[in-house]
Amino acid sequence: MKHIRNFCIIAHIDHGKSTLADRLIQTCGGVTQRELHEQMLDSMDIERERGITIKSNSITLDYRTPDGEDYLLNLIDTPGHVDFSHEVRRSLMACEGALIVVDASQGVEAQTVANLYLALEHDLTLLPVINKIDLPAADIERAQEAIDEELGLDPFEAIPISAKNGIGIEDVLQGIVEKLPEPKGDPDAPLKALVFDANFDKFRGVILQCRIMEGTLKPRDTIHFMHAGRDFTVDEVGFNQMKLNPKPQLSAGEVGYIVAGVKSVQDIEIGDTITLLNRQAAEPIPGYQPARQVVFSSIYPMDTGDYVELTKALEKLAINDAALTFDKDSSAALGFGFRCGFLGLLHLDVIQERIQREFDIGLVISAPSVKYNITLRDGSTLEVDNPSYWPDPTSIESVSEPYIKASILTPETYVGPVMELCREHRSESQTMNYLSANRIEVTSVMPLGEVLFDFYGKLKMITRGYGSFDYEPIEYRTTDIVKVDILVNKEPVDTLSYLVHREKARTRALHYCEQLAKEIPRHQFKIPVQGAIGGEVIARTTIAPFRKDVTEKLYGGDVTRKKKLLEKQKKGKAKMKQFGSVNIPQKAFISVLRTD
Ligand code: GDP
Ligand code: MG
Repeated sequence: MKHIRNFCIIAHIDHGKSTLADRLIQTCGGVTQRELHEQMLDSMDIERERGITIKSNSITLDYRTPDGEDYLLNLIDTPGHVDFSHEVRRSLMACEGALIVVDASQGVEAQTVANLYLALEHDLTLLPVINKIDLPAADIERAQEAIDEELGLDPFEAIPISAKNGIGIEDVLQGIVEKLPEPKGDPDAPLKALVFDANFDKFRGVILQCRIMEGTLKPRDTIHFMHAGRDFTVDEVGFNQMKLNPKPQLSAGEVGYIVAGVKSVQDIEIGDTITLLNRQAAEPIPGYQPARQVVFSSIYPMDTGDYVELTKALEKLAINDAALTFDKDSSAALGFGFRCGFLGLLHLDVIQERIQREFDIGLVISAPSVKYNITLRDGSTLEVDNPSYWPDPTSIESVSEPYIKASILTPETYVGPVMELCREHRSESQTMNYLSANRIEVTSVMPLGEVLFDFYGKLKMITRGYGSFDYEPIEYRTTDIVKVDILVNKEPVDTLSYLVHREKARTRALHYCEQLAKEIPRHQFKIPVQGAIGGEVIARTTIAPFRKDVTEKLYGGDVTRKKKLLEKQKKGKAKMKQFGSVNIPQKAFISVLRTD
């Protein structure tokens, strides 16, 4: 077997993961100086701007050691956010080792620890790297101490580097070869390949990223997806080396791509196991879980004329995003739109931003919701994630909602406020786990719906940015959910309805009413703004009528000024939604529906 190393890089955000990846690519001659643009693995604009990796990527590097041995190094990038923890796990499953980057001026931070646990769970061999040693604030000894005490790794193995200045990169490459294990696997066994990523190419269709665990795969083989139960014929296999580099075969231990006539990523499941149709593996690779949408929200074009464009935008995004779902939806207030399912709040954010940025469509987004299970009095059951489909409360026997086990890492100083925050968000239990001198893990069992509204931002605030948050879904539990309608001038505004625990209904209704009252301009008449459960009003504010015509304050008969002012008023109206007899500006919806 060839010399192969499969590894990923784990780091807290900003500690230099992308810079190190670029430097490894450059050193191994994967690219010419001209092709080298910064942070090659982070391809989307949003990823670069936010410094997070959303889609994982991989690249095969050719490395020759100083004594002339040739190696293939497969660098597999992992997404860095909880919404995508499924994808992180899949990427880790494709590796034998991981580099753990620690910033010499910052030390170990929350995300590093969280990711370290994940890596250990997957039995990866870990190699610590101390980055940014060029900085005047760098303290290598302190970083070594942290690696010893907080990560439990050998501080003397840690390689000091400056990714930015290219210092120590050769040591990292040698460390990878010497310290990380070679992949195992029998090239003659029945094929087992893990699909850890897939992306859509205009010309080639879907390109699958795979780690071959057992067996060998060649063009013209018919492959069988063990979970999806679908078959495809392989057109091409090869390595990712800045461009697709075709090879006669892929075999056990290797990482590469497969082109096999798959039309859309929606046709397959990432994490699935590929085998050969006529020589199947006995069972798939363990640990498979399909992508699960847990957050739902309706999106509408700001300008109803953009509906067709929005349809096209979603179709385009879905081709490359297996986790995004969407169905037609409509609202009396906002017209036609889509009900979408997301992996989490960041996923929602990213999709929203891409639609606005890449497709230039302004959006209004309804409050995100989880999926509730309802049992009706007649014994039937239904799942509801959209307030529009909430059944008549008198017909409901019971409701249950998804719970999570949240894991929050925080410096000791903030433990009190963190626990308080969890309790405010209906946490049912909290336990503490002392990790190191200044790192506490708070585990909290709480409803997923509670982290969708006003949680993450607050956590960051009370921990001064040091708190990190991760969660896993556990089970559905019985709950007391109600639907709250928001009425403007006695008429319900459908997009503003929301599902919430009874205890929280009033505070949030009041927040909505006050926000609306701020944003809706005065009319000739008094406008009540109310929150109601069924027929019962639980919150209210009033928008007072105007006293004067806007033009009244203009003295004399300056006709042009008067005209200008009226013109301006008319333009303002264009961005309003006529609702009953009230005009609601678009920005009122946006400001009310903000979750942060
Ligand atoms: P990531 O979030 O872990 O991918 O971090 P990046 O690679 O994007 O780096 C974050 C910031 O640190 C960028 O501004 C880099 O230029 C900078 N950086 C990365 N490595 C070094 C280094 O070795 N020395 C210094 N001084 N800055 C670095
Ligand atoms: Mg990065």
